[in-house]
Amino acid sequence: MFRIVSILKTPKLNYSNAYRFAHKMPEHLKDIATSKNPEFSAMIQYYFHGAAQLMEKDMIDYLGKYPQMKPEKKQNRVNVILDMIGNASCCLEINFPIIRDDGKYEMITGYRAHHTYHRMPLKGGIRYAMDVDLDEVKALSYLMTFKTACVNVPFGGAKGGVRIDPKNYTPRDLQRITRRYTTELLKRLMIGPGIDVPAPDYGTSGREMSWLADQYQKTFGYSDINSLAIVTGKPIHNGGIRGRESATGKGIWKATDMFLSDEDWMKLISLKTGWQDKTAIVQGFGNVGSYTAKFIHRAGCKVIGIIELDCSLFDEKGIDIPALIEHKKLNNTIKGFPNSKESTKDLLFEKCDILFPCATQQILTSENANKVQAKIIAEGANGPTTPAADKILKDKNILVIPDLFCNAGGVTASYFEYLKNINHVSFGKISSKREQRMVDEILSSMTHSLQQGGKCIKIEPNENLQELRDCNTEAEIVAYALQHVMETSAIGIMETANKYELCNDLRTAAYIWSIWKIFMAIESSGLTM
Ligand code: GLU
Repeated sequence: MFRIVSILKTPKLNYSNAYRFAHKMPEHLKDIATSKNPEFSAMIQYYFHGAAQLMEKDMIDYLGKYPQMKPEKKQNRVNVILDMIGNASCCLEINFPIIRDDGKYEMITGYRAHHTYHRMPLKGGIRYAMDVDLDEVKALSYLMTFKTACVNVPFGGAKGGVRIDPKNYTPRDLQRITRRYTTELLKRLMIGPGIDVPAPDYGTSGREMSWLADQYQKTFGYSDINSLAIVTGKPIHNGGIRGRESATGKGIWKATDMFLSDEDWMKLISLKTGWQDKTAIVQGFGNVGSYTAKFIHRAGCKVIGIIELDCSLFDEKGIDIPALIEHKKLNNTIKGFPNSKESTKDLLFEKCDILFPCATQQILTSENANKVQAKIIAEGANGPTTPAADKILKDKNILVIPDLFCNAGGVTASYFEYLKNINHVSFGKISSKREQRMVDEILSSMTHSLQQGGKCIKIEPNENLQELRDCNTEAEIVAYALQHVMETSAIGIMETANKYELCNDLRTAAYIWSIWKIFMAIESSGLTM
């Protein structure tokens, strides 16, 4: 598509601000900076408060728009808003029985957490995994708020999950669990097209989203014309949108590309710009990891390692990613891939330019961050890096592209799907042919006018105009818009890093960039008057 030219001066080498976590860090978060194994929600709160402290003065200055307001009241209002953002509004645990295919009864536990209601509906995935618990969904709901604000998508944050290992259940069992979980959430007004809109996450896919939508349409949503907008990430024939399935991976490629194309940022970590001479290792080969590998491979990057739970592959000549995707589709595992060798090493710590953790949270900790040899870490997973590890990586001058920005492509495409559902029309259906014709007619009118003036020049579209003219299918429009969203957010984060003199601390920059929008939405809603 289009590239930005570098908009930055060389990022300022001033580490002092990044570590200026002063006295205002809440008491229960004090140990998180050094903790080997922090509670997940406390870890996200810690990142939030760390960034919020740097912004406090600017927030108070912003309240200068109320000339009558006393300084203590301004401070108090800022504190209350930060407290609101620092806590989850509502967390639900539900327990329900199912009868399994083999006739046995089983109790199932599910959760849904709502972070803040400053934007409605809320948004966030549903995961099926054995480590799902209340703290995990709470942490992930915070992250969803920061993520949606980071890419300027108008949703609040939520997350849900069911504590099961989906591999141990038949599709019929899974359908029963999904439908019952949906009903339990609906009964409590926890989800709905205007309340909270789930999506796939770890252990779920379009299939579960179809069941969820169907359960709503057949029950509580029977007369709701917007019923399909209860969930995103649906299959195309069920109200989904083209490009949603690959969107998280595409966004991760684009997020990385934005930094990789920028001379100043690359100079900061002593790398050349561009993908061509780069090597990468991807942890996870599910939806997120496999699409990430596909897009970076297509960009010219050599993917030398893939890490999965049951096996890792290493090939210094570069793994044939399209062939591996085919292999996984057929065999449901990367094991037995004939073209590359299995490796018993922990590839997380192998030498490469870019490491993509695309599996799960708290992978990089104070115990292992020192061993990382990559120059860039692009966080495809949510919360893969603990604060103690984050500090080690920053000190090693590794550029961490943080989760709340890096993997926001998924929820961005979800937003497009949501718009498609509530508008009841797919993108481009009504206007694209007319727009295409308009470009052709403008060019031919110009040619015609020149000819009338005696000039025999045919006006031809340049490459960019031709590309825009041809971008008219739903898939192309979604891909274009997704890239644009990632580009503008990257620029916002780069500028924030510069303004707050954060050096390589992109995480704090991304949090600040997000918190501003949440702060202003809450402040202007009058909630704290
Ligand atoms: N589960 C994805 C995430 O963590 C997508 C969320 C959504 O589309 O609502 O970003």
